[in-house]
Order: sequence, then structure tokens, then C-alpha cells
Amino acid sequence: MKKLLISTLALAATAAFAYPDKPVTMVVPFAAGGPTDKVARDLAVAMGAVLKQTVIVENVGGAGGTLGATKVAKASPDGYTVLLHHIGMATSPGLYRNLPFKTLDDFEYLGMVNDVPMTLIGRPTLPANNYAELVKWLEANKGKVNLANAGLGAASHLCGLLFQQSIKIDMTTVPYKGTGPAMTDLLGGQVDIMCDQTTNTTSQIAGGKVKAYAVTTTKPLTTAALSGLPTLDSQGLKGFNVSIWHGLYAPKGTPAAVAKTLNDALRVALKDADFIKKQEALGAVVVTDARLAPADHKKFVAAEIDKWGPAIKAAGQYAD
Ligand code: ASP
Repeated sequence: MKKLLISTLALAATAAFAYPDKPVTMVVPFAAGGPTDKVARDLAVAMGAVLKQTVIVENVGGAGGTLGATKVAKASPDGYTVLLHHIGMATSPGLYRNLPFKTLDDFEYLGMVNDVPMTLIGRPTLPANNYAELVKWLEANKGKVNLANAGLGAASHLCGLLFQQSIKIDMTTVPYKGTGPAMTDLLGGQVDIMCDQTTNTTSQIAGGKVKAYAVTTTKPLTTAALSGLPTLDSQGLKGFNVSIWHGLYAPKGTPAAVAKTLNDALRVALKDADFIKKQEALGAVVVTDARLAPADHKKFVAAEIDKWGPAIKAAGQYAD
């Protein structure tokens, strides 16, 4: 009997140690082909190599990222479902009155991935060729301008909201399940402008496929394709500073050993030369600081909730 118990315990220990013994699903709360998806697909490859398992990216877009986040919050806490999300983790609590999860309580924080600036872009046929001309065009077309975003809670929503407030011009927002499909419509001229991460806009700007007006961080960017793009801050919107981050999360209750395996794999993946090169080419900066530690990343997200909450409240935007 004693022998049986010992071997059962040993088996259980081996099973825990064997994690992951099947593919891990990385949920992206936005449509395929967009900026979050791009980060996730590269990260999935880099982490999969470390974990020696396939990491499958699953796109669960809708409601500004809250559908995908809800799916992971309610998934089995076994380490086989993780969430790759962004600043929406911190803006959605201020935007949704009935968020189906508690951002700080319902996840194991696994660590931060990168910081990504945003850019303000326009459809290729938009007559404005620089930011000053864009502002004139927006003023002349008040009530007719369509601003694409990825729904309430998305990074594009936050950036677009702050932009509208700053220039005091309201636009009609057109929500998509992600800025991947929004970009398709922008290229086709169905929508006018959009704020989006450089991980989605760099190649379109470099290829001259969209009009590029500004970068949303206070510092200009250094990537070749975007280095000449002026900041909003330097073009009259003093202090305008929106930078997006991505982090990795598992459902609350994921065993500590499994969470540690995932954090260890994340740390190794973020040192992967190929991953770093791909991220840098798209304007993203891979995290190397303390926010790689789950506890520090959680503190950072809590501070971000406090930072963005008042601005969102002041804008009077919310959903059920
Ligand atoms: N860029 C989108 C956003 O606005 C998300 C995405 O499609 O990846 O948050």
C-alpha cells in the first residue's frame, strides 16, 4: 500500500515535471493579421522552441479584446491556455461596467513582453500629406470622418479617443475585431484614419501604402522606416504620449511550477536573437527590465489602470 502511494506520488511529480506534454494555446484577443497577432505569432515560435512544444495562436477577437481575455480567465488553469494581451488589460476596467473578469484577481501574471509605439495613419487617398494638413482636413470635414479601431478597450480606441479629445474634433468610430481587418478597409478607403501599433503599420508606411502623420510617443522612433516621422507632441499636441505594451497571462490557479516554467520560457524567448530582430524591425522594444517578473508586471498593470482610468472616465466612454 505504502509502495503504491509512493509510486503514485512519483508519477504525479513526473507528470507535473513533464509540463507541457501537449500543445499550448496562446489566445490573442484580436483578429489575425493585426499587430497583437504578429507579436503573438513570433513569440509562440520562440517560446515553443524553449518549451519543446507547439504553441498554437488562437484569435478570439471582439469587444476590444475583452472576449478573448474572458475566455482565458475562465479556461482550465492547467497551463495549456495563456493570453497574450496589451494595454487593454488596463483600460478595459475603466470602460466596461460589467467586465466578466477581474483584471488583477483572475489571472496569473506571467510577465511583460514588449513596449510598442503607435502611429497615426490615413487612407492612401486622403488628401492631407502631413499632420498640419490632416488637422485642416479634419476640421473641414467635421461630422464626416471615420476613425477605425479595434473596439472599446483596444489600444487603437485609447489612442483615437485621446487624439479626438486633444484636437477637440469628434469622429465616427468604426470598430473591428482587430486592426488587421481595419487596415484592409483603410487601404481600401472605406475608413479615413486610424491609430495603430508600429507592429502593424511599419511595412505599410515603408511601402507608401498609407499616409503616415505622426508617432504617438514623445520620442521619435529609430527604426529606419519610421525615423523621419514626427511626434504628435512636437506638432502641437504637447505631452501626447501613448505607448502600448504586451504581457502574458494564465488563468488564476495555474500551478506555481507551471507558471514558473512559462515565465522561464518567456525570459529565454525574449533573448532569442531572431525574435528581437523581428520585433525591433517593427518598432517594438523587447522588455529586459524588472517587468519580466510576474509580480512586477502585475504592479505595472495596476499602475496603468490607475493612470488611464481617470482619462477614460473624463471622456465619459463606457459599455456594459
Ligand atoms: N491594434 C489593435 C488594438 O487596437 C489590436 C490588434 O488588432 O492587434 O488594440
